[in-house]
Amino acid sequence: MSSKSKFKNVKGTRDILPEEAIRWQKIENIIRKKMEQYNFQEVRFPTFEATDLFRKSTGESTDIVRKEMFTFEDMGGRSLTLKPEGTPSVVRMFLQHGLFNKGALQKFYYIERMFRQERPQKGRYREFRQFGAEVIGSSSAESDVELVKSALDIFNELDIKDVELNINSIGCPRCRKNFIKEFKGFLKEKLSGLCEDCNRRYAENPMRILDCKRDKKKIKGAPVPSDFLCDECKEHFEEFKNRLDFLNIKFNIDNRLVRGLDYYTKTVFEFVNSNLGSQNEVGGGGRYDELIKFMGGEDTPASGYAVGIDRLMLLLKEEEEKLGVDVYIVTFDEESDAEGWKILNGLRDAGFSCDKDPMRRTVKAQFREADRQNAKWVIIIGEDERKRGIVQLKNMGKGEQKEIPMKTGKIVKELKC
Ligand code: ATP
Ligand code: MG
Repeated sequence: MSSKSKFKNVKGTRDILPEEAIRWQKIENIIRKKMEQYNFQEVRFPTFEATDLFRKSTGESTDIVRKEMFTFEDMGGRSLTLKPEGTPSVVRMFLQHGLFNKGALQKFYYIERMFRQERPQKGRYREFRQFGAEVIGSSSAESDVELVKSALDIFNELDIKDVELNINSIGCPRCRKNFIKEFKGFLKEKLSGLCEDCNRRYAENPMRILDCKRDKKKIKGAPVPSDFLCDECKEHFEEFKNRLDFLNIKFNIDNRLVRGLDYYTKTVFEFVNSNLGSQNEVGGGGRYDELIKFMGGEDTPASGYAVGIDRLMLLLKEEEEKLGVDVYIVTFDEESDAEGWKILNGLRDAGFSCDKDPMRRTVKAQFREADRQNAKWVIIIGEDERKRGIVQLKNMGKGEQKEIPMKTGKIVKELKC
């Protein structure tokens, strides 16, 4: 077969081939297990949503909405967008399905694909995967710590070291007013020297100027939100830090860490790992006490986070993953092949991964295939075995071979020993 195809996957998307898919399965299993230990319930949501959902909840002035969304019209002229993040859909589901009626506190997690039109590079793709968790209904710093710990536990189980936790508090809309006033005053004179984005942010979303990479030096000494926290926000942040301390979770306070929109409140955090180079953020999150009301619900506090799984993959130790079956069946002739096929189906029914050659290739080719499949056992059936009503069962690890009656039940019993 020619190795060249006319088609290639689209820039910024990734093919995950069998060996790598095994690693993805492992990560996903760890995420699910951990999330369930924390009593987060899984939700799955559609690949695309009405564009307005993201415009309103992700926010018109964010990079995601301004330049990264895959937006298209359906045949009815409705504007749709491939989901670039999870929180808007989770909140929509929570409101649309009246999940608030099920209890004052709801804890969700998801593992989903996200889509953003960004310049593809290492750790930055146009289609990527995130896992995330959202706690809806709790205003407590305990929930923020619970979220942080759940992500750290997952990094730990994956043996990913050196993940740093940066935290900050950006206050509530009340204390933020004072910050914004002072901050804008500070920036007024400097504005002409700042980048185009920051000039736009000055009008739409000034807090975001604090994390502009280009203008970092130029705004040194600027006021920061944490200087303006009201008593309630201060206390909340103290409790957040105390509970992290209690669990021996190390953190850095980065008083420039922000999330740009009004409905983000109090706690913000991010996980970074310097081994990732310039795309060093593994995940991030925070409290969004104002979002649910903003989206038409009752006043409901909430917080959450999202972690990029593709970036986690880059941090995993390279371990060779082996494809494999429990049993491979090798047959010598047509009649043996029919017996082998019955045993194949019997063993699959009994819960073993099992395979054989459907093309009746040579015995040599079948053994080669058993090897390629890393079979733990090989069952061999030829004319002699058939006549004697047995199969040869070879334990590939030990190199031992045994004769077993040609009955699925007997073979299963032997395999389970
Ligand atoms: P960055 O600053 O790297 O653009 P972000 O602030 O846009 O990140 P979030 O929206 O907070 O990221 O998404 C959470 C996580 O999702 C990120 O920390 C990252 O691990 C992952 N992520 C975001 N965008 C991409 C992408 N284009 N490709 C792969 N992973 C991504
Ligand atoms: Mg981004």
